[in-house]
Amino acid sequence: MPYNANDARYDSVEYKRVGRSGLKIPAVSLGLWNNFGNDKPLENQRAILRRAFDLGVTHFDLANNYGPPAGSAESNFGRILAEDFRPYRDELIISSKAGYEMWDGPYGEWGSRKNLLSSLDQSLNRLGLDYVDIFYSHRPDPETPIEETMGALATAVTSGRALYVGVSNYSPEQTLAAEKALSAHGIPLTIHQPRYSMFDRHIEDGLFPVLDQIGAGSIVFSPLAQGLLTERYIQGTVPEGSRASEGRWLQPGAIGDTYLERVRGLKEIADGRGQTLAQLALTWVLRQPQVTSALIGASSVAQLEDSLKARDAVPLTADEIAAIEPFAVH
Ligand code: NDP
Repeated sequence: MPYNANDARYDSVEYKRVGRSGLKIPAVSLGLWNNFGNDKPLENQRAILRRAFDLGVTHFDLANNYGPPAGSAESNFGRILAEDFRPYRDELIISSKAGYEMWDGPYGEWGSRKNLLSSLDQSLNRLGLDYVDIFYSHRPDPETPIEETMGALATAVTSGRALYVGVSNYSPEQTLAAEKALSAHGIPLTIHQPRYSMFDRHIEDGLFPVLDQIGAGSIVFSPLAQGLLTERYIQGTVPEGSRASEGRWLQPGAIGDTYLERVRGLKEIADGRGQTLAQLALTWVLRQPQVTSALIGASSVAQLEDSLKARDAVPLTADEIAAIEPFAVH
C-alpha cells in the first residue's frame, strides 16, 4: 500500500530547540539500533516508522554499525525512505555516526579523519541520501588528536554531507575540547548523545553545565534502560523475543530481586500519575532542561504508541521526583 502521511501529524506535538541552534527536534525521537536489522521483518520496521512519522516523530537516529549485520539498519531505513518517505525528506532529521568497529583494518573504527569521512560516505550510500542532518563522532578516541576528529566533522559540514554535527559518549572535559576544536573551523557543536536513564545517571556528574556553557543540546539514549524501565520484565520472567532473551545487549541475569523491587516501586508511582512505567521513565529524563529529546527504541507499534504518550504527560512535581530517588540508581 502506498504511504500517505497523516495530515494531523504536527497538530499537537512539541518540537524543542537543540541548545542555542536553529534546529528543533521532537521531545521523543526514534532510534534504529535494534529492531531494524536484517534479523527483523521489514514490514514490522515499516509499520513502526510510518506510525512514528504519523504521530509527529521527525527524528530518526542511525549509525554505521546498526543491524545486525552492521550496516543493515541503514540499508533497510534507506529502502523504506525511498519507498515511503521520499516526498517527506525535508520534514525529517536523519542522523548517523561513526567510531565503533565497522570494517577490517586500521581505518574501520575510532576517530581518524580517514574513518569518519569514509564511513560517512558508506552511510550516505546505504541510506540513499546526499546528506545526513546530523553526523556524530560515536565515541571519543584516546589516540587521535581531538583536532583531527573534529576537523573531519567540520569537513562533513563544509562538504555538504552533514548539516549539523555532534558527539556521543564524550565526557564533560572531552565535550569542551571538542567544542573548542570545532569552533576553530567556525562550526558549532550542536548536540551531544549520552546514555541517560533512572538506571544510569553518570551524566549528572558534570555534563549539564558544560552543555549550557557551549550552547549544545542533548538527545539521551536508552532512556528506558533497553526495556528494563518498562513493564516488559515486571513479572520476573524474560518474554520470548525480548532484548534480554536475545542476550546480546541485555542479559537475562539483569532481572533479579533488586531490579524487580525497583521497577515495582517505580510502577506504583507511575500508576499514581496515570502513566505506564515507560512513560514515567521518559517524563523523568525530560525533566532536565538540557535534555532536548529522549531517544527511544521500539520493537512494535504498540510500544512506540505507549512511549510517545509521554509527550503529553504533566511534569513531575518535586515530591514525585523525591519519591523516585530510592528506586533510581546512582
Ligand atoms: P530504550 O531504552 O528505549 O529501549 C528500547 C527497548 O525497550 C525496545 O526495543 C523494547 O524492548 C523496550 N520497549 C520500548 N518501549 C517499550 C514500551 N513502551 N513497553 C515495553 N517495552 C518497551 O532504547 P534503546 O536501548 O533501544 O536505544 C534507543 C536508541 O538510542 C538506539 O536505537 C540508538 O539510536 C541510540 N543508542 C545510541 C548509542 C550510542 O552509543 N550513541 C548506544 C545505544 C543506543 P524489546 O526489544 O525487548 O521489545
